[in-house]
Order: sequence, then structure tokens, then C-alpha cells
Amino acid sequence: MGVRGIKDQRVILTAGGSGIGRAIADLLIENGAKVHICDIADDFLDKFAKDHPNAGVTKADVSSEADVARLFADAANTLGGLDAMINNAGIAGPTKPVEDITLDEWKSCLDIGLTGQFLCTRLAVPLLKANGGGSIVNMSSVAGKYGFPGRSPYSAVKYGVIGITETWARELGPSNIRVNAILPGVVEGARIESVIAGQAKLKGKSIEETKKSLLAHVSLRRMVTAQDIAETTMFLMSDAAKNVSGQSIAVDANVETI
Ligand code: NAD
Repeated sequence: MGVRGIKDQRVILTAGGSGIGRAIADLLIENGAKVHICDIADDFLDKFAKDHPNAGVTKADVSSEADVARLFADAANTLGGLDAMINNAGIAGPTKPVEDITLDEWKSCLDIGLTGQFLCTRLAVPLLKANGGGSIVNMSSVAGKYGFPGRSPYSAVKYGVIGITETWARELGPSNIRVNAILPGVVEGARIESVIAGQAKLKGKSIEETKKSLLAHVSLRRMVTAQDIAETTMFLMSDAAKNVSGQSIAVDANVETI
């Protein structure tokens, strides 16, 4: 039996080609949702289209207004309406002291992680309103909860995501649209390995030492998985969460500090 209210939901999901986004797409499709994804990587898009021939796929960069407009035009054809918008795309940005960060590095992290959520939500809201309601899930991070030395632009994005989530929850609640954020912690996979390598370099420590000290501040002493994030996304979209809005939910094995 699927999760209540997920079957036949029409969903646009950004950065669905790999990582957390791919795990979300797989789980939603498995539970009967109709999913249209975007990504910028051809190889991920091709693999996704092969694995999910009935799903929609658009090559689009969420930081481009024109690309996002094209994504929504494509999704209008494949979905014919919208029940949920999942703003998942975001990049790690540089791991550098603030005085070494270039304006381009700063801007690209904000453009993809924050402006991308604005561009997609701006087009999703009229569709959700026309539908009589729906939900929005924005990907923040545990970096939206604590200062993160060496990661200024990422921190700005992820705190910003919580701000727009709380704002949109208030703006859109009267239209029966729920808006929540998820704060993933240390997620297993290639991305965290490169973040750990960056931190190790910044602090002059070995990778093993860096990993160990990272998990020393996680109460459950383990990383989480993309599947964990997908399960929480699906919960927030489901009938079980019909009265959950404006919340920022950490799925992080309880990260105590970073
Ligand atoms: P990832 O780096 O693995 O990338 C996932 C996908 O995003 C890739 O397929 C990539 O091609 C696509 N992508 C990159 N730039 C894009 C753009 N401009 N437009 C559209 N697609 C783009 O990411 P992830 O680790 O799966 O993270 C997904 C989200 O979760 C991000 O917002 C990230 O900040 C957040 N997050 C991740 C972790 C983690 O440990 N992985 C922790 C906390 C928060």
C-alpha cells in the first residue's frame, strides 16, 4: 500500500538526476506520483529517462529564468497541473575563508541554491493555487542552523531557505499551500566526501581525522542516507502532514554543531 495522498500527485522536482533528488524521484514514482525533473547533467538525465520512461525530463539550470520557464512549459505538457514543488537543487560552493571567496563563487552558490527556489516557486504557486492547494518542500541543510566556517555562501543560502520557507508558508497558507524545509545532515555519498576533503585541506588535517571529528558531533554517530531525505520529503507531501507547514525539519541523526 502506498503512502496516503502520494499516488497521482503531479510533482516538479529540481536536480532530480542524481544524489538526494534522484532518491526522492525514485521513491515518489514507486509510490505512484507523476514526476517531472530537471537537471543540468546530460548523463544523469539520460539514465533517469531510461529508468523512468513515463516521467518528464528537462535539461534546465534552476538559476536561469529562461530555463525555469522552459521546465514549467515542459511540465505543463507531461503533468497538466501541479500538486507539489520540490526545490532540491543546490551546490556546495567554495570551502574557503571569506576573504578568499570570489564574487563569482559567492553569486553562483546563491543563484543556484536560493534564487533557483524563488524562480521555481514563482511559477509553481499559480499552478498550486489553480489546483486548490498543494505543497512545497525546500531543501535547506544543517548549515541553515549553525554557522559553518569556510562555507559563507552555502550558509547564506541555507539560512535563506529557512527564511523563504517561513515567509511562503504564511503567504500561501490561506491558499491551502503548505511549505516546509528539510535540513539534511551529513549525507552518505560522493558530495560529502569532497566536502570532507575540502575541510581537511582547510584545517590541515587528514581525511580520516576530519570524518571522525565530524561524526563526534552527531548524536547518533552516523551519516544519513539520501533515502532518509526522500522518506521525509514524501511524508511532508502526504496526507499525514496535512497540518504541517512552515516547519524546518532536520534529518541529520542530530548534528549538535558543525
Ligand atoms: P549533488 O551535488 O549530488 O547534485 C545533485 C544534482 O544537482 C546533480 O545531478 C547535478 O547535476 C544537479 N545540479 C547541479 N546544479 C544544478 C543546477 N544549477 N540546476 C539544476 N540541477 C543542478 O547534490 P545533493 O548532495 O543530492 O544535494 C541536494 C540538495 O540537498 C542540495 O540543495 C544540497 O545543498 C542539500 N544538502 C545536501 C547534503 C549532502 O550531504 N549531500 C547535506 C545537506 C543539504
